[in-house]
Amino acid sequence: MPGTAPKLRIGPAGRKGRGTFAATRIEPGELVWDYAGEERWIKEIPKRVWKYCFQVDYDRYVLPASGSPGWFMNHSCEPNCVIMGRTRVVALRRIEPGEEVAFDYSTNVGWEGFSMKCGCGAKGCRKVVRSYQSLPEDLKGRYGACVSAFLLPARQPGRGPPRRLSAPDLG
Ligand SMILES: [Zn+2]
Repeated sequence: MPGTAPKLRIGPAGRKGRGTFAATRIEPGELVWDYAGEERWIKEIPKRVWKYCFQVDYDRYVLPASGSPGWFMNHSCEPNCVIMGRTRVVALRRIEPGEEVAFDYSTNVGWEGFSMKCGCGAKGCRKVVRSYQSLPEDLKGRYGACVSAFLLPARQPGRGPPRRLSAPDLG
C-alpha cells in the first residue's frame, strides 16, 4: 500500500539525526521503501528540503512525505539496500530488526556538483559522497543495474553515457 511501511520505524541515528530502521526482519530482495510519488522539477522544490529528495531523472525529484521513512533514510557507503528501477529501495541482504536501513546516495544522484561529507562508519567509507559518475569503476560494476534507472547508459541507446548537467561535454 503506498505510504505505508509496516516493517520500518524511525529512530535516532547518532550524528545523522534520525534514521529509518527495520522494525522486523527484512529478507534479501524484499521491497523496503518505494519513493514513487509526484515527480517535480528541482526548481519547483524549496532548497531547504533538497536533502530529503530522491532523484528519479535528470532534474526530476520526488519529495517524500515529511516525516515518512523515505524522508529519514540515510546514506551508507556499505549499504544494506540498493535502488531498483526508478523509485524502489530493495534489501540487498537480510536485515535484522533494529538495523538501520540505508542505501548509497551515489547510486541515486546524477548531479555532478553533489558533495556530502560522510561519517557512516563503514570500513570502506568514502568520506565524501559524490554523484554516481564519480564512483570508482569497480564499485559501479558491483552495483551493476542496482542504481537509479536514469543513471544507466542503456536508457539512451545510441547516445552514449547519460548527459551531464554541470559539466557540458565540449567534445
Ligand atoms: Zn561513508
